[in-house]
Amino acid sequence: MTPFASRWRPDPVEEIKVGFDILKSLRLRSRGINFIACPSCSRQNFDVVKTMNELEGRLDDLLVPLDVAVIGCVVNGPGEAKEAHVGLTGGSPNNLVYIDGKPAQKLGNEALVDELEQLIRRKAAEKLEADAALIARS
Ligand code: SF4
Repeated sequence: MTPFASRWRPDPVEEIKVGFDILKSLRLRSRGINFIACPSCSRQNFDVVKTMNELEGRLDDLLVPLDVAVIGCVVNGPGEAKEAHVGLTGGSPNNLVYIDGKPAQKLGNEALVDELEQLIRRKAAEKLEADAALIARS
């Protein structure tokens, strides 16, 4: 699977964002969400690119390092989702969400981005709290 940075945009601001995305995918920068997405194809059960573009725009404010996998079908979905903090695998009639590598809930395509955004924000808040507790203990 590829980090969601493999797009070309002529805007220099976008180029910088893509550069940071590449660093995040290489684990050389850990700030904000590291999206992992499949390139999408006719097997996808939801529109992967549209979902990714919307999620990236909505979650730009999150600074917590978090791996989020958005995969269009079961060919690669479960494997990638199990490695991520939040993973989505396309399926029919419903898509499957994994939290911390474990199947957590099913989501339909209606309001998919809204529901994913909520789940990712909730996970980011939990991770922030857990990281703070770890720092306090050390
Ligand atoms: S994971 Fe599924 S939808 Fe995504 S590119 Fe591979 S076969 Fe296509």
